[in-house]
Amino acid sequence: MKPCTTLVRGALAFTLPLLALQAGAVEERVAATASSPHCAADAGWNDPARPLRVHGNTWYVGTCGISALLLTSPQGHVLVDGATPQAGAQILANIRALGFKPEDVRAIVLSHEHVDHAGGLAELQRVTGAPVLARAPAVPILQRGASDRSDPQLLSLKGFAPVAGVKAIADDDVVRVGPLSLAAIPTPGHTPGGTSWTWRSCDAKDCRQLVYADSLTAISDKHYRYADDASHPGYLAAFRQTLARVAGLECDILVTPHPSASRLWSRLGTGATEPLVDTAACRGYAHKAAAVLDKRLAEEAANVEATP
Ligand SMILES: [Zn+2]
Repeated sequence: MKPCTTLVRGALAFTLPLLALQAGAVEERVAATASSPHCAADAGWNDPARPLRVHGNTWYVGTCGISALLLTSPQGHVLVDGATPQAGAQILANIRALGFKPEDVRAIVLSHEHVDHAGGLAELQRVTGAPVLARAPAVPILQRGASDRSDPQLLSLKGFAPVAGVKAIADDDVVRVGPLSLAAIPTPGHTPGGTSWTWRSCDAKDCRQLVYADSLTAISDKHYRYADDASHPGYLAAFRQTLARVAGLECDILVTPHPSASRLWSRLGTGATEPLVDTAACRGYAHKAAAVLDKRLAEEAANVEATP
């Protein structure tokens, strides 16, 4: 089946040379700082981070503890994830510090519908005016700012500001803004609407496949059971399929919604000690998540046996 395409149109609203100049100046300032890690590995969700280039036209604009990425083009940008409610202003400031304009963001996409990745979306949507594109299960959650019982963590979740301008995209849709092209990979499991994103970024002739792989952790409130197929038919099978799909992705550079889950601050920015490019990273990330899911299912089975 051919993937469908979501095309987001936008006018050219800035000049590229100015952008390159400003972005270069920021990078120089960043490079001039000490060689300690860009952020602590155990940074808090709202600890501020300086923005920095990941690769080519892909920039990190999130906080130290929660990721947000900006993909830039002369025809407009795509923002990936909104982080926490407190992070919205930081993300906007980081975009501006790189010399880009939030008003040139033409589309916002997200990993999953939890407060730590969707909490800033309402503000970011309002300031940029860009639509928030999400897979169908996430749409009503974003519009309401609250999850339902389809979410394994429902009873332990905090709500967030309802998001306006949410548009549904199909599984495996491709979001296009000018020359930018991001594929939406359905990765339900951590949440029903979980989505991973992949695109190609080039730094001159050095082109790399970026993967923004969603959280894959099997974690729930005390009532939800992944093995209870009668309550959520097919969900566990879909979770398994997610893990297999992420493991098999073409993957040069992995970034995750929680930077610590892919050791980002050991791989990127000042003080990095590991290579940013690791073609086995997605496989390793998925295999770890599969082990957590297996452990979780064993615990559920043990609890059932222990209950008369
Ligand atoms: Zn989550």
